[in-house]
Amino acid sequence: MNVTTLPKPPRVGLVSLGCPKALVDSERIMTKLRADGYAMSPDYAGADVVLVNTCGFLDSAKEESLEAIGEAIAENGRVVVTGCMGKEADVIRARFPDVLAVTGSQQYEEVVAAVHEAAPPVPNAFIDLVPEAGLKLTPRHYSYVKISEGCNHRCAFCIIPSIRGDLASRRPDAILREAEKLVAAGTKELLVISQDTSAYGVDLKHAVYPLKGGGEVRAHMTDLARELGRLGTPQNNVWVRLHYVYPYPHVDNVIPLMAEGLVLPYLDIPFQHASPKVLRAMRRPANDAKVLERIRNWRAQVPDLAIRSSFVVGFPGETDEDFAYLLSWLEEAQLDRVGAFKFEPVEGAPATSMDEQVPEDVKQERYEAVMALSARISETKLASKVGSTIEVLIDRVDEGPEPAQFDGHLDAPHPVHASAPGATGRSKADAPEIDGEVHLRDAGGLKPGDIVEVRVEESDEHDLYGVPV
Ligand code: SF4
Repeated sequence: MNVTTLPKPPRVGLVSLGCPKALVDSERIMTKLRADGYAMSPDYAGADVVLVNTCGFLDSAKEESLEAIGEAIAENGRVVVTGCMGKEADVIRARFPDVLAVTGSQQYEEVVAAVHEAAPPVPNAFIDLVPEAGLKLTPRHYSYVKISEGCNHRCAFCIIPSIRGDLASRRPDAILREAEKLVAAGTKELLVISQDTSAYGVDLKHAVYPLKGGGEVRAHMTDLARELGRLGTPQNNVWVRLHYVYPYPHVDNVIPLMAEGLVLPYLDIPFQHASPKVLRAMRRPANDAKVLERIRNWRAQVPDLAIRSSFVVGFPGETDEDFAYLLSWLEEAQLDRVGAFKFEPVEGAPATSMDEQVPEDVKQERYEAVMALSARISETKLASKVGSTIEVLIDRVDEGPEPAQFDGHLDAPHPVHASAPGATGRSKADAPEIDGEVHLRDAGGLKPGDIVEVRVEESDEHDLYGVPV
């Protein structure tokens, strides 16, 4: 049996100088880098790149910053400089021509991009929360917000707890401060990520924290989701999308927030299987036999609720009966988006040494069966949206004078206006990189980050096609 050995993530060293504001900037940069798959290095020797966040408030602070850059160059050699001294890039480069990049304070995107270039992240499907394509720097209009690290569960196929440790939630006030800054900087969609979003705050004993501008917030998924939803205003609509939600009973309490419009009607729930026997063998949390009934209840309250999930086929001991159970469960659950994965033994995961490993050709057949069924369900669900009007967040706009061409998804070429460029965006049911898209014709004047009303004209297995109204 081939066992997958995981690549080591690149390591970033940090020297953070200056005031508390600079420290918050450092935290934010590091949070983003952690979300992108980087590990931290406590010393120069173990770092693939060293980030120096400088202070330029007084001459003495500038000198201290320059000394810190010099030390990092001498000890490591691969140095990215950010912070207040970024305004004096010439001074830095004159003294240290070898620095890899110099960016200013609050230029988060530039500094994270410089680290990506200096030490590219290693995509790792077994532990990444963000999809591989999303490891590139996300555009300004959507941002991943990591609310906790680690996990208290011990699923048999997973190595995350052994790498990242037990659940460690961030303070809710710190998360909200970060989200507020992101919104102020132009983010229109906050993608809440963690290993287990429903468990958020368990380790903090769901304590209550004061908020800077008054009020307080409890370290709990429902309370955090509500406060994130309140960051939007009638003038500045902000989408809040919840990922990695396990169906614990309290998840029922976020459904009313969706009905109120504070949180997107979208749940990413990694069910992984449906057969009670396989779920037990996987040691999955929230293994609730009544989940279909709960999905029905959720949809009764929020009819346009989109549910995405992922499933593992070919887990050790999965029989034909278990797999048939999964297929009929999927047929009944009518999930909107489904990703399937063939079980892969990973070094260090308990399932790797389990008996009754499933042969590769059986895994492949089961994988194809799940993908075919979910494509059929998705196609029918998307077809029912034709003729309706939906909100779409624009991700990219076609450049140049060429009219938009729909890329072969449809049999007949779509009518396009010769002078109006097309655009591509996502509905509330589509998370970036992992779900479908909405392709627009006649989308002149739009820019990434705009939220527009769109009349749906066509659909296929995964995407919608329409026109702004
Ligand atoms: S819930 Fe299970 S699969 Fe998810 S991170 Fe925790 S141990 Fe891994």
